[in-house]
Amino acid sequence: MSTLPVYRWRLAPEGLATFRQVRAMGLRPGGQPVAAQLERPRRRRGPLVAYLYRIDRAKPVRPMTAAKRAALDRANAARRICPECRRDVGYRIPLSLGMCSPCGYPATSAV
Ligand SMILES: [Zn+2]
Repeated sequence: MSTLPVYRWRLAPEGLATFRQVRAMGLRPGGQPVAAQLERPRRRRGPLVAYLYRIDRAKPVRPMTAAKRAALDRANAARRICPECRRDVGYRIPLSLGMCSPCGYPATSAV
């Protein structure tokens, strides 16, 4: 593996962007290898490193397909059904509770 070019923070050349910056442009790295890295020196710790991608090789974020959207909706709907009372509570059942709040907290639900 070849060594990546390393740039100082804020001194990245034109045409390169971090993953976050690429996403902010509505793009994704699209499987391209990391083009360079940025390093910000920190006192008493290792430098903060960010990876840079080539903007010209970035691809548009893939729009969600209808099938994918439907599958996601079904998964979300399933998480809204309380396993205790089988009601669709209209929000996602918290995993920590595992049921809707009237079932989880019967004493306080009357309030
Ligand atoms: Zn319930």
